[in-house]
Amino acid sequence: MALLLLLHVLLVAAAARAPAAQAWGVEGHYMVCKIADGFLTSEALAAVKALLPASANGELAEVCSWPDTERPRIRWSAPLHFADTPGDCKFSYARDCHGTKGEKDMCVVGAINNYTASLQDSSSPYNLTESLMFLSHFVGDVHQPMHCGRTSDFGGNTILVTWYNTTKTNLHKVWDDKVIQTAMNKFYNDDLSTMIKAIKLNLTEDWASEENEWAATTYPDKYAQESAELSCDAYVGVEQQSNLEDEYFFSALPVVQKRIAQGGVRLAAILNRIFSGNIRLQSS
Ligand SMILES: [Zn+2]
Repeated sequence: MALLLLLHVLLVAAAARAPAAQAWGVEGHYMVCKIADGFLTSEALAAVKALLPASANGELAEVCSWPDTERPRIRWSAPLHFADTPGDCKFSYARDCHGTKGEKDMCVVGAINNYTASLQDSSSPYNLTESLMFLSHFVGDVHQPMHCGRTSDFGGNTILVTWYNTTKTNLHKVWDDKVIQTAMNKFYNDDLSTMIKAIKLNLTEDWASEENEWAATTYPDKYAQESAELSCDAYVGVEQQSNLEDEYFFSALPVVQKRIAQGGVRLAAILNRIFSGNIRLQSS
């Protein structure tokens, strides 16, 4: 932890270079945290509410994009949003968890470990409100497959594509925002809460048998490994200037929805373990 603190200071000075988009968009993070909220034990929920800033109005989901909105002020945190790989569909902590100048532990998996440890340690030097907001955000990020994409194209940021022949974007943003926004538009009346309800319904039906296994996977390296594998599929058939539309959208959407659900279930399990000593999920 002391090492990370030191690196933070060094990185403020270095103002690490980072690609523009490095997160699920606002909607993706909101959904992950809203789903997590429904699985918190009463003890964990009380502890979370006690740490939230006033701006959250008692809702964790309201502040889950905080590390993105604050990025100009906290530039040292830029490498903590992702863990890119050489593109071999694998994540290796020793090989891939480093900052742009090779600083150890400066990746999304290192950040999840770090802020989990911070919240577990009553003598932590960290601001615990910020630790909670960082942890909640990064558990979301690590589930976005392109956050464990290829280093050579900054997780798809430099692969320029067109979305439905109209919007110029890039492959990273397709996974951050476009799939979610198109799904909201096509199926959910442009209403985020309706999309959240649909994902929750899947959790009680299609994924019910997998939910406990997701929660029991408390090892964030595994989340990055899953994303690295999924990112390999996400690159298939995509080239510079590709136009992506229905075929790509319909293959990506189930993956996006499942990763949001997994992120939510696992964030709840992590917070339950931190604040109530077990990973028990309490569905509401
Ligand atoms: Zn992020």
